[in-house]
Amino acid sequence: MRKQIAAANWKMNLTLQQGEQLLNDILALTHEIKENQQAVFAVPFPYLQMAQQKLGNKQQVFIAAQNVYNKKSGAYTGEVSVDMLQSLGIKTVVLGHSERREYFNETNQFLAEKVNICLENNITPIFCCGEALNIREANSQNVFVGQQLAESLFHLSAEQIKKIVIAYEPIWAIGTGKTATSEQAQEMHAFIRSVFAAKYGNEVANTISILYGGSVKGNNAKELFAQPDVDGGLVGGASLNAQEFVAIINALK
Ligand code: PEP
Repeated sequence: MRKQIAAANWKMNLTLQQGEQLLNDILALTHEIKENQQAVFAVPFPYLQMAQQKLGNKQQVFIAAQNVYNKKSGAYTGEVSVDMLQSLGIKTVVLGHSERREYFNETNQFLAEKVNICLENNITPIFCCGEALNIREANSQNVFVGQQLAESLFHLSAEQIKKIVIAYEPIWAIGTGKTATSEQAQEMHAFIRSVFAAKYGNEVANTISILYGGSVKGNNAKELFAQPDVDGGLVGGASLNAQEFVAIINALK
């Protein structure tokens, strides 16, 4: 079975003390994370070490960065490198979140460079894709998402692509409380898998975990995750609440 993943994206929220308390609360409520499942916490850079020290030795739990730069080192004030993440033991990074694409002008080409530097340094990218409302209304979501995947990922070998996790996040569902229906999510996830199958073959496509993101909550996660091509979720708002996020972990297949 593909890895089933509940990934928390804290974005730019919480103080260090609040973050520590949240992780304590989640630890106290979490019972079993099965072997085919993972819980991932994408926390702000300044909290990576705290989170890694608290959870880094737990089975099936990974701490992730929310971004990384496309250069190894040098005069890039304010940026964070893969070596810095490695030195903290961080092995996962969220790339291409729609907020970074929109507010920080991250393009498909730029993201391809970030994907490369991650894979060259054994860091797993959770690669985000997804369309805005106007694209969905024009029924162009397949073309748009297909292009995001092709331009950022299709230069990779089959061995490399197997190391990527995809997060499909329709922008119209992020932070809006408007979740895609489980049918809409399944339809897009099946499409994304078919795009990988056409390029890399079915066997490779079937190994890639595709997470859904967009207003996932404790009360809708089970139905979304029950879809055959939905392998968990990337969760913003609900990941800031211990009960909600534990319910989401418990909803994994
Ligand atoms: C996200 O930040 O990736 C996200 C999906 O946010 P939310 O769950 O709040 O919609």
